[in-house]
Amino acid sequence: MSEYKRNYVNGEWVESKSGETFDVENPANPSEVVARYQSSTEDDATEAVESAAAVAAEWAATPGPERGRILRSAGVLLDDRKDELTDLLVAEEGKAYAEASGEVQRAIDIFHYFAGKAADLGGTIKCSSTLNQNLYTVKEPVGVAALITPWNYPIAIPAWKLAPALATGNTVVLKPASLAPGVALELARALEEAGLPDGVLNVVTGSGSTIGSEFIEHDAVDAVSFTGSSEVGEIVYERATKGGKRVQTELGGKNPTVVASSADPAEAATIVANGGFGTTGQSCTACSRAIVHESVYDEFVDELVDRAKSVDIGPGAEHEMGPQVSQGERDSTLKYIEIAEGEGATLVAGGGVPAGAKVESGYFVEPTVFVDVSPDMRIAQEEVFGPVVAVIEVSDFDGGLAVANDVSYGLSASIVTDDHAEANRFVDEAEAGVVKVNEKTTGLELHVPFGGFKRSSSETWREQGDAGLDFYTIEKTVYDSY
Ligand code: NAP
Repeated sequence: MSEYKRNYVNGEWVESKSGETFDVENPANPSEVVARYQSSTEDDATEAVESAAAVAAEWAATPGPERGRILRSAGVLLDDRKDELTDLLVAEEGKAYAEASGEVQRAIDIFHYFAGKAADLGGTIKCSSTLNQNLYTVKEPVGVAALITPWNYPIAIPAWKLAPALATGNTVVLKPASLAPGVALELARALEEAGLPDGVLNVVTGSGSTIGSEFIEHDAVDAVSFTGSSEVGEIVYERATKGGKRVQTELGGKNPTVVASSADPAEAATIVANGGFGTTGQSCTACSRAIVHESVYDEFVDELVDRAKSVDIGPGAEHEMGPQVSQGERDSTLKYIEIAEGEGATLVAGGGVPAGAKVESGYFVEPTVFVDVSPDMRIAQEEVFGPVVAVIEVSDFDGGLAVANDVSYGLSASIVTDDHAEANRFVDEAEAGVVKVNEKTTGLELHVPFGGFKRSSSETWREQGDAGLDFYTIEKTVYDSY
């Protein structure tokens, strides 16, 4: 039995003008339809944008502490529904229960964090060069923010855009990913119940290529925040900047963990396995390259293969690693496995669809390890959005660092080492927006900036923490003589 979900526009739960819907299936059991959503049209998107624009001035004038109160109340409601939200996230996206529960908690924490920020917004006061003059800055909302989000963190990413946008007084239109839109609509439900005025948030479901244009190009949209693939993000960036919008895009990755000669191979293998196979490899920060010093290479590979083979695969509700989100995503992973074999890499773990009754019908794929990978192979250069780790052997630290940087992406990078100088050189020279020492590439704190280098980001504004507020505010400088 599936639920029927509507768009949230101007404070009403409405059907699309298309009269059409689409179904979201459970990737662990595709014959089960989890929910039915509106296939929205451009007109639906226009109405959403115009609703947001109509109340922008009023919401901007609402005192920050009051905006924060609404966010905090919504956070409490989300907390009350944590189990329900986790079940929905597992059913639509497929990730393991513990991962889904952690993600829902992250969304709750984000709401509380930015609720506090809303009450604490302000500018700076400076000493004026002129007698009897106050010189200070204030931060104002940008206006209408259009948010477009991916399926892989379907509640955390909408939350980390929505909460700072609302906290700073912007009105919002949100388009969640079509593969897992349910939990984003639940954010709207919580905000509505918390007293968010009509029109301040509008959520429209349906195909990105249909709704996207209005979100990116409508005159009333002032800022576009996009997270998703580099391919789509680069188009969004070009189109939105052409229209004079403020734009932020956070995109794909090809994240390395360098395993130095001083590393304990077992510890390094655990770090790489957690980073590479966690969330079924479907994190933008997932480790997809292990760049390993020759002195620890053999032992590291044995340990990593052991970990890959011991992962408990099955429906996310009961198992350690859930399915990929869709047939298309699994096919893409399997295609990359084929390409890697064709290029001469050696498969030492996984490489296919697991066998067994519990994984018979879902989009499951085995944790996969390739060795004999050279840095120029496609498996070492292109984002593979599944649990696949390519192991590259290097003979010294400088070679490892060069390989780590020799990709077009630059999202997250880590090193496993006991050598303090090496660790610091890696921090200085790694071309990535997130750099970690003796840590997996995945996992972020919500109160520090997040964003990529190179093709992983537009490199315009960072998300999360105080930096997350900057994208949604514009500074005004006041010269007040008396
Ligand atoms: P995607 O295919 O690029 O889609 C992202 C969003 O864009 C979806 O809501 C999608 O809608 C929408 N969209 C598609 N075509 C569009 C168009 N022409 N105009 C406007 N919007 C459009 O990415 P995904 O498969 O959902 O997510 C996986 C990717 O996101 C990976 O590459 C991953 O690395 C990246 N990611 C990056 C970060 C980060 O912070 N750097 C975080 C998470 C994920 P539909 O769903 O309807 O197609």
